[in-house]
Amino acid sequence: MSVSLDTIVSLCKRRGFIFQSSEIYGGLAATYDYGPLGSELKRNVTRAWWEAMTRRHDNVVGIDAAILMHPEVWKASGHVDAFHDPMIDDRVSKMRYRADQLIEGHIDRLRRNGKEQQADAVYEKLVAALNAEDVPKALHSVIIGEEIKSPDSGVADWSDVRQFNLMFKTHIGPVSDTESVVYLRPETAQGIFVNFHNVRETARLQIPFGIAQIGKAFRNEIVARQFVFRMREFEQMEMQYFIKPGTQMEAYEAWKAERLNWHLENGIRADRLRFHVHEKTAHYADAAVDIQYEFPGGWQEVEGIHSRTDYDLGRHQEFSGKKMEYFDSETNERYIPYVVETSVGVDRTILMLLSDAYREEEVKGETRVVMAFRPKLAPITAGVFPLVKKDGMPEIAHRIEADLRREYNVFYDEKGAVGRRYRRMDEAGTPFCITVDGETLEDGSVTVRHRDSMDQVRIQADNVRSYIRDELQR
Ligand code: ATP
Repeated sequence: MSVSLDTIVSLCKRRGFIFQSSEIYGGLAATYDYGPLGSELKRNVTRAWWEAMTRRHDNVVGIDAAILMHPEVWKASGHVDAFHDPMIDDRVSKMRYRADQLIEGHIDRLRRNGKEQQADAVYEKLVAALNAEDVPKALHSVIIGEEIKSPDSGVADWSDVRQFNLMFKTHIGPVSDTESVVYLRPETAQGIFVNFHNVRETARLQIPFGIAQIGKAFRNEIVARQFVFRMREFEQMEMQYFIKPGTQMEAYEAWKAERLNWHLENGIRADRLRFHVHEKTAHYADAAVDIQYEFPGGWQEVEGIHSRTDYDLGRHQEFSGKKMEYFDSETNERYIPYVVETSVGVDRTILMLLSDAYREEEVKGETRVVMAFRPKLAPITAGVFPLVKKDGMPEIAHRIEADLRREYNVFYDEKGAVGRRYRRMDEAGTPFCITVDGETLEDGSVTVRHRDSMDQVRIQADNVRSYIRDELQR
């Protein structure tokens, strides 16, 4: 049984993983702050991605581009004209919905009620509508034709469907006029495309090569629900892999496999991950797939892998007037490289990790909540406890703590019964707890308690750091 979203949200607040932004002012919709545990988890996730994508590949390098970019970038990328979602209003409740998601919800309901054939038929209609000339009109007629009711008011009193641009606009400099408009980037990818030559030349790269980036992105989402799944300010980890035209399918398949494997390496259960082919592929893409996870709200995207042809570099060449070609010195060919991109949300990865790690177990008549994160991702690597606050135990425990702090995030706790201290660490997902007790005073050994099995082993206090290092390698 998967955990409910409410359980995750309340654990996040109670334990300091994630808070509502500006909570003391009533919060700001769809923006969240990471607390002490959440920010450590996030750091570990971004580090794991960075290492997997850059360090493990001798032909992938990183950049860190600005959030604000020249406004022409977003014309070239197509975002000014086409980065919109179809929205529809319930005239009774005044609530706003994404038209395509309303239809998807309807399809899910039909499937849950065993009406597979009807669900398949509506799915076909959705695909046709998304590919229609006039998408808003086509989606509207599916909603009306299927008599889809509003989830809040329960009636079908719908407005027309309108396209709504998702980019946040602001102004640069002291004068706010049309000349000074800039956008908060809705994706990190464009910072990579515009730096194609800078990076290629300075890092002396030859095709195929990749550029990776982690950074904030902003989208004024119409319906921002489901906690950190859909936020208005979020973080992406993207990699653009530049290749010779004609080799895209090979690269696409290789990155598909590698990216799925990354999620598995992070400990995500295989039966909760799947590939999902897009209903509608952007006109310039020749293949696109999502990696979906079975979230508390159902199967949804965590990562997209797209074969984008030469669209982006070609458009930047057209709009900037600068050549975006690559000269292949081996074959004496000149071409605009094709691109395979992998794009994963940090926050959705965190929500997936939280949902996947959550366990409730009965132990001696009590329920223990355990966050079974892969040890290398856990916010706190080790808890260090003196059994009692006397006989020199706190001093020894502090010495172990100081030694571990040279490499790991550690939590020292001397308050309350040791069983309680273990439970608190279980809920934070801490894989190891080190306890200094009477035996330590006699022979210098301590107990190491493992989070998942609750097994305890005794090792020498001096060896704790190397023991943990070995365990993390496993
Ligand atoms: P969706 O269809 O769910 O809106 P998308 O297809 O627009 O997502 P992409 O543009 O491919 O998403 O972005 C790549 C990744 O960035 C997504 O797989 C997701 O993990 C993350 N992402 C996109 N939008 C958001 C958001 N509003 N909040 C959190 N993460 C997001």
